[in-house]
Amino acid sequence: MRQKIVAGNWKMNNDLSATQDLLKDLKQQVFPEEVIVMVAPSFTNLYPAFETLREHPVEVIAQNMHQSKNGAFTGEVSASMLQSVGVNTVIIGHSERRAYFQESDAQLAEKVNTALENDMKVIFCVGEELADRNHGDHFEVIKAQLERGLFHIAEKSWKQIVVAYEPVWAIGTGETASPQQAQEMHAVIRETITEQYSKAVGQNLSILYGGSVKPTNAAEIFGKEDVDGGLIGGASLKASDFMAIVNAFS
Ligand code: 13P
Repeated sequence: MRQKIVAGNWKMNNDLSATQDLLKDLKQQVFPEEVIVMVAPSFTNLYPAFETLREHPVEVIAQNMHQSKNGAFTGEVSASMLQSVGVNTVIIGHSERRAYFQESDAQLAEKVNTALENDMKVIFCVGEELADRNHGDHFEVIKAQLERGLFHIAEKSWKQIVVAYEPVWAIGTGETASPQQAQEMHAVIRETITEQYSKAVGQNLSILYGGSVKPTNAAEIFGKEDVDGGLIGGASLKASDFMAIVNAFS
């Protein structure tokens, strides 16, 4: 079933005390039942967030994880560590991981496998750079990212996958893809996956848009046929803005 999802990616923001303040504000909000709401705090704040939101419908998810089961990988966090603190969904392939931490398509494909083997859900991010778009290569770039990161998985595993389209040029820049640009790319993503797998996979897949989504532009973006929600950075750090974005669905 295609689900409406709004996920807040808090990135490397908020220490424990600021996280608790934000969680307290979030807990006071009444979220619409038809939208799945998620937040991704830093690793150090996952367990406090899980504890605070235990009786609350907001799901706590991770921003990243390592592909290996365990071992000598200083500074890394595994799937089972995440699951042991109540986390069952992970963002994989965010453009900041790809660009600043040199995460390759092959490594991302391994991370996807590890998540699936552990019955975790994945929000898999794709996105083109401005130069790709200016050269008219944006569709090909996205198709290649999908192919290399996801097209090795079995058809049945797609129920654990959400795709997030985040054009790199729109992240944290204040510049948003127009609702038409978002719709156009989301339709291409759905079509590409449908061709590779099946109509059912394409139709049931949730595709989120991310990149400078704000309370003022969310409704128009979410109103597009192939946009099933958002992955929100900056505007997810304030409960009232995040809430307004979630409510943009109704
Ligand atoms: P902004 O909403 O701050 O542009 O960030 C988007 C993003 O990268 C979410 O993962």
